[in-house]
Amino acid sequence: MGKSNKFDHFCLRLVICLCLVSCILYLGNTSVAQGAEISKIEAKRDRGFDYLDVYTTGNVSGNGLLLENELQINFPNAKISPKIEILTKKSKRIKNISTKQVGSTARITVTLKKNIDYEIVNVFGRNKAVVEISDRLDYTERIMAAWEKANLKRSGQKLEPYKYAPIASGKDKSLKGKIIVIDPGHGGKDPGAFSYSGMAEKHFTLATAKKIAHHLKTAGATVYLTRTSDRTCRLQDIVAFANKVGADMFISIHYNYGYNRKFAGTETYYYTPRSRKLALAIHQRLKNELKRKDRGLRRAMFYTIHHARMPAVLIEPVYISNKKEEKLAGSQNFQEKIAISVTRGVKSYF
Ligand SMILES: [Zn+2]
Repeated sequence: MGKSNKFDHFCLRLVICLCLVSCILYLGNTSVAQGAEISKIEAKRDRGFDYLDVYTTGNVSGNGLLLENELQINFPNAKISPKIEILTKKSKRIKNISTKQVGSTARITVTLKKNIDYEIVNVFGRNKAVVEISDRLDYTERIMAAWEKANLKRSGQKLEPYKYAPIASGKDKSLKGKIIVIDPGHGGKDPGAFSYSGMAEKHFTLATAKKIAHHLKTAGATVYLTRTSDRTCRLQDIVAFANKVGADMFISIHYNYGYNRKFAGTETYYYTPRSRKLALAIHQRLKNELKRKDRGLRRAMFYTIHHARMPAVLIEPVYISNKKEEKLAGSQNFQEKIAISVTRGVKSYF
């Protein structure tokens, strides 16, 4: 009697367990099945802007990723409808619009004819997202070219790189054996750009570079900073040093400047094809974790990232000419966030 009672209890428990498991599986499945579908994309033009109206069967939350010649708009937990309708319009910015299901993410890819800026507005309750596309207005590449020309002509001080030995006692050994050169942009007689309230870029870059170095050595890397004080460094010497120590990667730290004080957001640069994977890894994390406007992963022939013989990137996390972003750039907390994002990007690269 006792025995069969115990058995009955066991059976009952088993049945309850199975019920719970199937319930969870059922709910899990339906939530995927109930994810919104992208049913229509309609391109429009209005007052000089291009717009994409993205119609869905439920609430969606699109986020963008601007790459060299395309804009990806990703909708997590959404599906591309098999009957999707894409209405295009002749545009001087948009070459083509295509869609693709990437796991549980619905992706719209807009291939571009020229450099753009974009904004995504998720219209909750109206089952719609609106993507606004405008011409890109900035001078980063021109400003950098002028600055580099001046730097390359100038006589600098002797480069005195500083070596951060890896922390061997830590748990995290993911970057063990890697040599990383960090270049805090500008320094000494070269102030870089001036921020909204008149502070030189060279101070922001040095403070941020030191934080990045700290995180990288904590993960086991050997890190070199090309300067740890206010020294005038020549670009040729910086690159020659990175090449000489046989660095596995080179990261140059800058902050952006725009004549228009409204300019804001994160840009990441690379030049050589072998640097793209690293640049994308770092850009995606900076973009997602700093939560500033995405101003794209970009390819440009800047001196250091062009001449370094290893994967090399140049980051411009925010615009110090922008009042709000200057505050962020000057805060320990935000610099720490940049350091963590860069370190995560570096780790994911190897
Ligand atoms: Zn700079």
